[in-house]
Amino acid sequence: MNQKIPQRIARLDELANNLWWSWHEQPRWLFSSLDYQLWRLSDHNPVRLLSEVSPDILQAAAIDRAFLALYDSVMSEFDAEMSPSKPTWFTATYPDMAHSPIAYFSMEYAMHNSLPIYAGGLGVLAGDVCKEASDLGLPMVAVGFMYPQGYFHQHVSIDGWQEEIYRQLDFDQAPINRVLSPRDGTTIARIQLGDDTVAIEVWQVQVGRVSIYLLDTNLEQNSPQYRELSARLYIADRDLRLQQEIVLGIGGVRVLRALGINPLVWHANEGHISFMMLERIRELVAAGATFAEAEAKVRAATAFTTHTPVPAGHDIFPVQLIEKYLSRYWPSLGIDRQTFLRLGQKDDSMAQEFNMTALSLKLSGYRSAVSQLHGKVARKMWRGLWPQLSEDQLPIAHVTNGIHVCTWVAREMYHLFERYLGEDWIQKHDDSRLWEHVLDIPDEELWAVHQDVKRKLLSVIRERARERWVEDNIPPRQLLTMGVLLNPEALTIAFARRFTEYKRPALIFRDIDRLKRIVTNQWHPVQILFAGKSHPADFLSKRLMQQVYALASDPEFQGRIAFIEDYDVHVAHYLTQGVDVWLNTPRRGQEACGTSGMKAALNGALHLSVRDGWWYEGYNGTNGWAIGDDFAASTTEEEDVADAEALYRLLEGKIVPLYYSRDRRGLPHGWTRMVKESIRSIVPVFCARRMLKEYTERMYIPAARLAVEAQRVKT
Ligand SMILES: *Cc1c(COP(=O)(O)O)cnc(C)c1O
Repeated sequence: MNQKIPQRIARLDELANNLWWSWHEQPRWLFSSLDYQLWRLSDHNPVRLLSEVSPDILQAAAIDRAFLALYDSVMSEFDAEMSPSKPTWFTATYPDMAHSPIAYFSMEYAMHNSLPIYAGGLGVLAGDVCKEASDLGLPMVAVGFMYPQGYFHQHVSIDGWQEEIYRQLDFDQAPINRVLSPRDGTTIARIQLGDDTVAIEVWQVQVGRVSIYLLDTNLEQNSPQYRELSARLYIADRDLRLQQEIVLGIGGVRVLRALGINPLVWHANEGHISFMMLERIRELVAAGATFAEAEAKVRAATAFTTHTPVPAGHDIFPVQLIEKYLSRYWPSLGIDRQTFLRLGQKDDSMAQEFNMTALSLKLSGYRSAVSQLHGKVARKMWRGLWPQLSEDQLPIAHVTNGIHVCTWVAREMYHLFERYLGEDWIQKHDDSRLWEHVLDIPDEELWAVHQDVKRKLLSVIRERARERWVEDNIPPRQLLTMGVLLNPEALTIAFARRFTEYKRPALIFRDIDRLKRIVTNQWHPVQILFAGKSHPADFLSKRLMQQVYALASDPEFQGRIAFIEDYDVHVAHYLTQGVDVWLNTPRRGQEACGTSGMKAALNGALHLSVRDGWWYEGYNGTNGWAIGDDFAASTTEEEDVADAEALYRLLEGKIVPLYYSRDRRGLPHGWTRMVKESIRSIVPVFCARRMLKEYTERMYIPAARLAVEAQRVKT
């Protein structure tokens, strides 16, 4: 509780501690109007703002009529939204299920920059799921890790080498609150790691109506090695990684039980947390079930989503590590070593490794991939688990990912949609009929709004460069690569994603002279913004980044190619909202879904991508561009050559001419027509609302009904 806040506006503290504020405009105004400068300096973190704002400002606000009017209006909306009796889609559709918790487990969550406990797309998806669950009224509780050092911040040296900076999060300035055990007021749960016992503490994050419980092992009573365990995300060391996954999977279930939460349905977001399924089997065995009975029961109540079509992306542990930490555990499941190890096998052979995805697929009754195409790839990949079935019969379905629209839409676009789709557009944004009205937006207005947002992006880029210049004394030449020469009038393309071989960040540089001609065309210039991190332990990926950085820094590109450092959700907001074209060049079959292109489309950028991931089903011929065909190249070299050629042809022959084809007032009517078609066809389909409704209808509700039925039979 913040002591210095006057009574009249005391609930600012409560509001700051519920991330609901982050996807609503009025509470953001409320905080920023307290002290705009501090709001910006705190990276829009109201908890920090409230702890640092001067008491005089708070006193003044408490008697300022305009501030109080806004405060009262925000608080009453907040109360209405949080009220358990508020009618929601879920309570209206499934009134009998309103009190049956759905547990969601994920290794990372990206909700807002003030809580940097994510690395990338998987976390963004989990964050968007929680926000949408709150909006739809799903009775969801989520479980994850509290990483005090989170993922790293990225600086890039002038020679293009990534430097990782770990900052310790100040817990007092994050929107988290400690949860004490209802029993004895101390540690919530304990687990066994080999011969040692590790105590677990819990932090609660409120995301609207959804609570996320974040596990933390940094307790005095734990030995130093275990205190460090939850410090960072995605440790490369296999031993530590396995320990983390045991803490989260097994510990996560124990934490929920200790808090008196007994979910009917459990959803594992990727295989990292699937020891959660084993722990529930253990509970049932302890209560007298056989392993087979317990396994069947757990499977019936478990949903699992796989996110990785790349074999190396799957979580695999050597058998001796599994033995080291779990040999004391499997007897409590009522099975022997052989049966236990078999659970982690991806086919009938007995490999000396334990595959977490295989485990997850075996112990879940509802399995999904994250796009239509990824469904196909996943069924092929996991054939070995169901040798008696043909590939297309394999029980892995797909639910295509989507984005939380209210989080990712630029405020300027939000208001534009209000004018032409209706004041309540956000309430019905997954209704395709609503989006037909995008065609009513005058080109002029759409263009003006987009230009506005684009200027904001470029101004943010210049400010970030200035900060580095002032704080780190970087060489002047490097400022050019940071984007200080970018021009809001030029066609601007972004390539922002993790640096990894299969995403081919360097594809566009395949023919450097040709690219130079495109970029530096005097009348029709093109700008390209790169952003993205390399995994700290991935040397090859860092080399790749260095290569791209060197090319981007070539003075012959005239400062029109930039590298934006430290790509995270904050930067992603500005980039997806402000650029004209969103570029994606994965090798076919390797992008599970991708969601950044959906954010760009929502904000009026056009998607230019290989038809992989979501674009395989999202592209309709007129809502963006597809690079190359859906061919199966025989070598990666062949694929690269063909795709680079297709990319240059699109740029030279279609994209640049369309962008610069203007009427007398400078309006590109052909371009805006395509933007409208893109918004119309993409937003209502590739949104988290459609995704979560699908999860609910196809996985959560059938599982919950079975569980309720089983309970009735028993009693
Ligand atoms: C949306 C988002 C992603 C996921 O997008 P991809 O299309 O998979 O690259 C990753 N990182 C950040 C910071 C994002 O905002």
